[in-house]
Amino acid sequence: MRAAVRKVVIAGGGTAGWVTAAALSRQLGDMIDIQLVESDEIATVGVGEASIPTMPTFHRLLRIDEQEFMRASNATFKLGISFENWEALGQKYLHSFGETGKDTWVADFHHFWLRARELGFGGEFGDYCLELQAALADKFALSKGAGGLNYAYHLDAGLYAGFLRRISEAAGVTRTEGKIDRVAQDPDSGWITALHLDDGRTIDGDLFIDCTGFRGLLIEQTLQTGFEDWSHWLPCNRALAVQTESHGCVPYTRSIARSAGWQWQIPLQNRVGNGLVYASDYLSDAQAEAELLQGLDGKPLNDPRLIHYQTGRRKKAWNKNCIAFGLSSGFVEPLESTSIHLVMIGVTRLLQLFPFDGVSEPLTARFNQLADAELEGIRDFIILHYHVTQREDTAFWRYCRDMSVPESLAQRIALFRDHAQAYQGDSELFRVDSWVQVMLGQGLLPSHYHPMAKAMQTEQLRQFLQSLQGGIAKSVASLPTHKSFVQQYCSAQG
Ligand SMILES: Cc1cc2nc3c(=O)[nH]c(=O)nc-3n(C[C@H](O)[C@H](O)[C@H](O)COP(=O)(O)OP(=O)(O)OC[C@H]3O[C@@H](n4cnc5c(N)ncnc54)[C@H](O)[C@@H]3O)c2cc1C
Repeated sequence: MRAAVRKVVIAGGGTAGWVTAAALSRQLGDMIDIQLVESDEIATVGVGEASIPTMPTFHRLLRIDEQEFMRASNATFKLGISFENWEALGQKYLHSFGETGKDTWVADFHHFWLRARELGFGGEFGDYCLELQAALADKFALSKGAGGLNYAYHLDAGLYAGFLRRISEAAGVTRTEGKIDRVAQDPDSGWITALHLDDGRTIDGDLFIDCTGFRGLLIEQTLQTGFEDWSHWLPCNRALAVQTESHGCVPYTRSIARSAGWQWQIPLQNRVGNGLVYASDYLSDAQAEAELLQGLDGKPLNDPRLIHYQTGRRKKAWNKNCIAFGLSSGFVEPLESTSIHLVMIGVTRLLQLFPFDGVSEPLTARFNQLADAELEGIRDFIILHYHVTQREDTAFWRYCRDMSVPESLAQRIALFRDHAQAYQGDSELFRVDSWVQVMLGQGLLPSHYHPMAKAMQTEQLRQFLQSLQGGIAKSVASLPTHKSFVQQYCSAQG
């Protein structure tokens, strides 16, 4: 057991750094001293503009005013992700944040849907999900009590970091601008003692949070924690990002599979964020740029920016007295917009296990165990999108279809294929709804379903489905368009 932790030093001021600073300062207040160091000379990664529904929850925990945040970040609402060309060229489905249908205590809704399909009636699986239908109709509204839409945001990453910085500084965080030149360690234990800046200043602390991005200045360059490479399962390793003029603002992200990766479209209030994620073994940078530019819907506002990365994770997120959050802790893939969530859940976990009395092995081990389990669930979910595909038009897609996948995912695929069973494991982010939407969307149709679904009379099943569909259609019809709702609720134009 070490000395009590009173001084926390955050290295890096991208989304990860400022999310961490805001959460620690708003929750722990005067109990600890928080310093953040960032360099104006070293740019942030500048992407990371789509989120998942844990973000509104996290903001509520921090008492962040939603309208203020949305105005400050040019944010829009997000109800899911439209996956296009993933199952096969020309096919698309929407992975929404909602619940589909109505479960019984014995069997999930999709068993009843499969039964109806076998009997030759019923609509598409997505016809029974409010969020999905609202997204397709380009509708959105907030509702106070139960029955509201489950949503997330699209936001401008740079503006968001600035917004969180204002909150953090108001809550007592001290920001230092400067370039970290050297990281000092205790000669015996190797624990980090201070950050030395290139102008001679020194910042010492008890606990250090590495938010320096892919370089992992503290966790890797200093502590040499090690990296677990996942590129055999997730071979995309580059992205080209470009912004375009606004062309409407649908309440969902678009993810369009291309020849060796996929293209994103994230609509903000004033512009659209776009990018192509690709595997450099299958596509050159020049080919990628041509593919990206050809696939844009609006006029580019800047030149495409190249980002290199490697999928995988740091062997320990918490090592000695250093915790890595954000890109310094590893990167799965932006496909399901989970990175900012991982920072938020990571800092929440840190708050729950905060080492007030000193960093200890049991605390560190528990933290790493939870972080590992959560990341593996996300990894499997993302690999699923690539692996379960009918596409064989390029070498990249043939590789993805034929590659071996983690045993945990192989078992899950078999369970769904043979029994239509899906589940949400312990510490797992994605719910049964998400697994089922993506497995069906990718074309994995189960051969059997729960016999309980046969217990419902055919006519009763038909009416059940019709009434669900009718109720959803009525709710969607009553909603305003997403654009008009954003305009009256949180327009950044004032
Ligand atoms: C292509 C792509 C798309 C993505 N899309 C999404 C998405 O849609 N949704 C999502 O949730 N996430 C997404 N992410 C991930 C997301 O961008 C990051 O998780 C998030 O931006 C956090 O980045 P960061 O703060 O860890 O690192 P960075 O933004 O790289 O920030 C690093 C910080 O460290 C500072 N720094 C570095 N070295 C030094 C030094 N020597 N001295 C002082 N300061 C230093 C820099 O100045 C900077 O402030 C995406 C990532 C990529 C690559």
